[in-house]
Amino acid sequence: MTGLRDTMLLHPGESKLRSSYAVIEGYGPSAYQGPGVLYLTTHRLLFESTVSAGLVQGLVRGRETVTVLEAPLPHVRNVSVRRGRLGRARLQVELTAGRPAFDVLDPEAWTAAIALAKRSMPSPSAGPPVFTHTIERQVVKIRCRYCGSLGNEVDGRCPTCGAAL
Ligand SMILES: [Zn+2]
Repeated sequence: MTGLRDTMLLHPGESKLRSSYAVIEGYGPSAYQGPGVLYLTTHRLLFESTVSAGLVQGLVRGRETVTVLEAPLPHVRNVSVRRGRLGRARLQVELTAGRPAFDVLDPEAWTAAIALAKRSMPSPSAGPPVFTHTIERQVVKIRCRYCGSLGNEVDGRCPTCGAAL
C-alpha cells in the first residue's frame, strides 16, 4: 500500500495504538464512503478518508485527507465483528451518533484493541481533569510607534510590523 500517510494529529498525552487501511460504510455523506485510514488512539477512534468530497476522484490522487469520523472513546458504545452471509467480516462500531462499519484487516483484533483502550481510559467517576486554578498574567500592552498596533511588552516586538516596542 503506497501513499498511506500518518496525517492524524495527536492531542497532548495521547498516543496512537493502531492504524490500518480500511473502508468505511454506512456513515456520513455518501461522498465520504470509501477507503481511508482507521486510527485508534488512547483517546479517540478516527477515520480519515483519502478522497475529498466534491472533487473528482481522479484529480485528487489520494493526497487529500478528510477526517470523516472522530469519536472520543467514551462515545464508542460498542464494537463487534459483523459477519454477513457474503463477503468479509466487518468491524461494526456503535457510536452515540451513528453506526459505521469498517472493512478492515483483522476486525477481531480491532474489536479487542478498542475495548481495551476504552477500559484503559480514566473512569468518568474520576472526572475529567479539572483546572481549579487560573493563572492570570498581567500583560502590558504597548502601542507601536511606527504603525500604531498594540503589542505585548513581553514580546518586545510589534506583532504587525515587527518594530521593537
Ligand atoms: Zn508596528
